Amino acid sequence: MKVKTIIAKVLLLGVGLVPSQLLAQTSLPLSENLINFNSSQGEIFLVESQARQDYIPLSLQFETQDNLAFCGVASIVMVLNALSIPAPTATEWVRYNRFTQDNFFDNPNTENVISKETVSRQGMTLQELGGLLESYPLDVEVYHGGEVSLEEFRQRIVDNLQQENNFVLVNYLRSSIGQQRGGHISPIAAYHEESDRFLILDVSRYKYPPVWVKAEELWNATNTIDSTSEKTRGFVLISSQ
Ligand code: CA
Repeated sequence: MKVKTIIAKVLLLGVGLVPSQLLAQTSLPLSENLINFNSSQGEIFLVESQARQDYIPLSLQFETQDNLAFCGVASIVMVLNALSIPAPTATEWVRYNRFTQDNFFDNPNTENVISKETVSRQGMTLQELGGLLESYPLDVEVYHGGEVSLEEFRQRIVDNLQQENNFVLVNYLRSSIGQQRGGHISPIAAYHEESDRFLILDVSRYKYPPVWVKAEELWNATNTIDSTSEKTRGFVLISSQ
């Protein structure tokens, strides 16, 4: 019996032993306008990308948001670790220093922007995302979707993705790009010129895979009103000071 056949049979046998809830769909289906990064096409786009400086450092720090409201916190933690900002000790790893979605709030400056409890309840606005980032030694530029043209949106983000040691977080309305449901925050890791698509490393890893989304669709999704701030969503450019 060939090795592959044996493995296939073992896997099939294994299925019978797994509780049914573990066989549930691991992520939601993608609408046709989005390209799954975990596909042949998705992989080709990354290989062809001329703006992917941020892909490796971000993927090495890829976080899954700790709860349904922590997309912004998980995204910030990825950037802090990718930029090697001096981190506090992580309780769970005793003497090792690293930002986590828990110790991120140990910085007293974050409390002046928004409390951990409030973020846990309602997430954060674009402005609060910028403010929380500024609690650390970072240079932060906040852009609202309603204040930039598609050309400026694309150019500013592509410029960043072509440079090392700076990063982009995007705040967008999921339903605007065909996903469920409300406002969301995640890092952008690459741009593919020919298809005019950005790669979002979605921190809701239990819900969606990373996707390639059309620049215009993502721009439209940032040009939506956040009911908390009553301002449009947008994106943030971040570098260390
Ligand atoms: Ca960059």
